[in-house]
This record gives sequence, C-alpha cells and structure tokens, in this order.
Amino acid sequence: VWNQIAIHRYSLAHSNRDPTTSRHVAVVGAGAAGLVTARELRREGHSVVVLERGSQIGGVWTYTSQVEPDPLSLDPTRPVVHSSVYKSLRTNIPRECMGFTDFPFAARPHDGSRDPRRHPGHSEVLAYLRDFAKEFDVEEMIRFETEVVRAEPAADEENRGKWRVESRSSDGAADEIYDAVVVCNGHYTEPRHAHIAGIDSWPGKQIHSHNYRVPDPFKDQVLAQGSHHYTEACGLVKSLVSSLNSWMVFFLLPLQIVIVIGSSASGVDISRDIAKVAKEVHVSSRSTSPDTYEMLPGYDNLWLHPVIETARIDGSVVFQNGKTVYADTIMHCTGYKYYLPFLDTKGEVTIDDNRVGPLYKHVFPPALSPGLSFIGLPWQITPFPMFELQSKWVAAVLSGRVSLPSQDEMMEDIKAFYNKLEASGIPRRYTHLMPDDSQFEYDNWLADQCDYPRIEKWREEMFYIGFKRIYAQSATYRDNWDDDHLIVEAYDDFVKFMS
Ligand code: FAD
Repeated sequence: VWNQIAIHRYSLAHSNRDPTTSRHVAVVGAGAAGLVTARELRREGHSVVVLERGSQIGGVWTYTSQVEPDPLSLDPTRPVVHSSVYKSLRTNIPRECMGFTDFPFAARPHDGSRDPRRHPGHSEVLAYLRDFAKEFDVEEMIRFETEVVRAEPAADEENRGKWRVESRSSDGAADEIYDAVVVCNGHYTEPRHAHIAGIDSWPGKQIHSHNYRVPDPFKDQVLAQGSHHYTEACGLVKSLVSSLNSWMVFFLLPLQIVIVIGSSASGVDISRDIAKVAKEVHVSSRSTSPDTYEMLPGYDNLWLHPVIETARIDGSVVFQNGKTVYADTIMHCTGYKYYLPFLDTKGEVTIDDNRVGPLYKHVFPPALSPGLSFIGLPWQITPFPMFELQSKWVAAVLSGRVSLPSQDEMMEDIKAFYNKLEASGIPRRYTHLMPDDSQFEYDNWLADQCDYPRIEKWREEMFYIGFKRIYAQSATYRDNWDDDHLIVEAYDDFVKFMS
C-alpha cells in the first residue's frame, strides 16, 4: 500500500551537515537522470535550472508514435524525435531493482490506472517518473521546450571558471551564466549502424530501431506486380510470381521478410514483435558462432544467424553461415552513440569511438571539474540508482562537502583505467560498459564518497539473476521467475519509504 514517501535516509543522514557553498547549476535534460540530479542538487542547497527541449519530463520513456523522416536517422539536420521506445516495450529490469533507492518503483494497487506487472510497460515507467517529479517538486525547476544549443566555459574575465549556456525556446534565445553544467541528455537517440559490405547497392528498405514503433508495416504487403520495390527486392520470388496474376499476388504472398541486426534487448524484442506479423524474420547476431542457423523455439518463422557477409544488388543478403535470404527490410538494432552537439569544451572532452573522455569515474573531466559533469554514461547497468548516486556525488562536490583528487591524480586514475581496458583487449567503444559486478562496485564507491548507504544486497542479486534470466529464457523472462524471496526482501525494505 503506497501513499507517500514519509522520510528518506539521505535527508536524515545529512540534516545536521555543515554549511556548504551554493552554486547556480544548469542541468541539461529532464529524463530520469535530469530529474534525480535536480533533486539532489537542490537538496544540497544549490539553485537549479533544468533545461529540457521536450514538452514533458521522462526523456526516453515518453513514448510517441512519431518517428523521424529519415528511417536510419543519418541526416544530421533531420528533426529529432528523442524517444526510442517501441509500443510493446516492457522493462528488461525487474521494477523492484530498477527504481531510485529511496523512492521505490513498487507495484501500485491494481485499480486499472497503473500497470502492476513486475516488468511493466513503458507508460508505467513514465508514470513512476511523474510521481517522482511530483513528490519532490522537480517540475518547478524545469524550463520545458528549451533546447541547450551551446554550453562552453565562459571566456570573459568576469565569469572565468563559470559556464555560458545558450538555449532556444519559443520565447527566443537565452544566453546565461551558470557556475556549473550537469549533462543529462541521454544516449539512446543517435543511432549506430552496422557496416555491411555491399549495402549501398542493396535495394531494400533499412531502418534503425530508433524509428521502430509497431510491427504493422511488416505485415503482408500489398504489392502491385511490377512495382519498383517488388521487382528490386524480391528477386527469388519474382519469377514464381510473374506466372501468377496480380489478384493472386495480393492474396497469396506475404512478402515481408525482415532481417534484424543485433540480438541484445531491442533486437530480441523487435524481432519477436515483427515475427508475429511478417513472413520471416532473420536475426543476425555477432555473438553467435559462424555456422549458426537455427529456428528460435516457439516460432516457425524466426531464425538466428551469425553476422552478414554481404548484401547484393539483387536484394539478397548472405550470412556468414552461407545462407542467403531475399529480404525486404533490414532493421538495425545496433545501439546508439553518445552525442553532445551542444557542448564546446575546446577539446577537453572528446568522443572517440564512443568513449566520452577523459572523465574521472565516468563523471568529471579533470580539466573542467567540478564545473562540468555527466550523469548516466555507463550502460548495461540498472540506471536509476546509478544516476541517483552519481548526482549525489556531483552535488556534494559542487558544494564543497566532498573533495575531488587533484587534476593530475584524476588523470592518473583515468590513464590507469584506460590502460586496463587496453590490456584486456576491450575496445574504446566499451569504455562505459559495466559488465558483471563492476556496476555495483562503482555504485558503492559513489555511495561511500557521499556517506550514503551502499546498494542493497537484494537489489544486486536481483539484477544478476534477472540478467541471467534474459539469456536463459529470452521469450518468457518477464513473466516467469524464481526469485520471489528477493521480492519479499525488497518490499520489506520499501516499507520504510512508504506510509
Ligand atoms: P533520457 O531519458 O534520454 O533523457 C534525456 C533528456 O534530455 C530528454 O528529455 C531530452 O529531450 C533532453 N535533451 C537532450 N538534449 C537536450 C538539449 N540539447 N537541450 C535540452 N534538453 C535536451 N532502463 C531501465 O532501467 N530499464 C529498462 O527496462 C530500460 N529499457 C530501455 C529500453 C530502450 C529501448 C531504451 C532506449 C532504453 C532503456 N533503458 C532502460 C535505459 C534508459 O535510457 C534509462 O533508464 C533512462 O531512462 C535514461 O535516462 P536519461 O535521463 O539519461 O536520458
């Protein structure tokens, strides 16, 4: 039974803390990271302005049926749709461990207005974030429909050490000075694409999962015999169909054959979504052996292949296992790139093969700290609690309650981290990937910096078990589990935050 949060551990732990410096801070973005960052900054005594280019809070969780006009999102001048969430999306992390540590993402009473499932749909996550924003009066700090177009260290003598932030809204352009900027702009909007030999002459359609919403466009197609798409893309069936009349084409040939590149969370969901309506779906995975060719359990039209070797002008796509598929569409579920077009650090922070750096502990660039910080760069993690801990740390550093090491020491730490990645053969693009137990080590390190309780054991265990479940039972993991004992522990813990 949920009413309101009565007390939270953090305010109790810090109710008598020493007076600290209050800063004027700009937060870029009002997704989950921006919301909790605003809360933490204000709790620490800072004055906060959140600049959000959208018209509501929630970032990636604000589902829209709208997609970008360029299905691959290659055109840098395209109108950007922020969210990459598809209609059928349910969380891949159990709700108990997904929520902020002091604002449980608990199932609400089943009154029909909320989604009580353990892995709820996207609208429940948005509702949770709205509850959070309401509970902590975050919205009053947000300027909606205000896009940050430039953030840079102020150059004039009077504002040395501060940040100039230029933004654009329907009220016009603004140019303001802040003591610090916290970047919370998300990293699931700018697509990465697979490189496929021969793709430039391949005649089919291509789309990135960023622009996927519903499977309907992949249903049996009504194709006029001789249409450009039909003749170009369906080489193999062409000769068969040309012997039939167009009436029969309409009724007999469900022509949509889709190749989905990528077998991580979105690839798994989207391939199954499309397989419900399309003729065939072929998933190309780089984490499978080169001779893999298998029908996925529970389906008669969904195959798993290794990587694509080549795409050809006749519409065929050849996989590393030697199989050839004549496909209508290639869906790139190949992830996203960090993208910071508004940030001008005069070269102090760069993006190199998807490494944002140099950053001390994925948050502070030594040369520009503590004035510039980033919340939410790590991935393959449970994001909300990490955002919370990172933003507590940033807030405490900005107020002077917690100190950073010297610039040289931070650089040494970063170099040692990069060297470790290199020695292990980990490419730069995985710099912010946190596999295995590194995320909780990191979370606990952050918690220790801020004198905040470490991540609960049940949360850690639930995340690992949940992660394993995704691989072991990818079709059913959201509805079948065997860690009820952890749910009990979680709700025992939640009681202290609910009245
Ligand atoms: P976002 O939610 O992307 O918010 C960034 C905000 O910044 C946006 O509101 C945007 O409008 C704003 N913004 C960007 N640029 C500017 C600018 N220049 N000026 C002003 N505002 C700007 N996480 C989970 O915990 N569980 C899941 O099950 C899960 N599933 C996911 C499924 C998909 C398909 C995707 C894409 C992500 C999923 N995630 C999941 C991860 C999810 O991204 C994080 O949970 C989290 O919501 C990210 O929050 P954020 O605030 O960092 O970024």
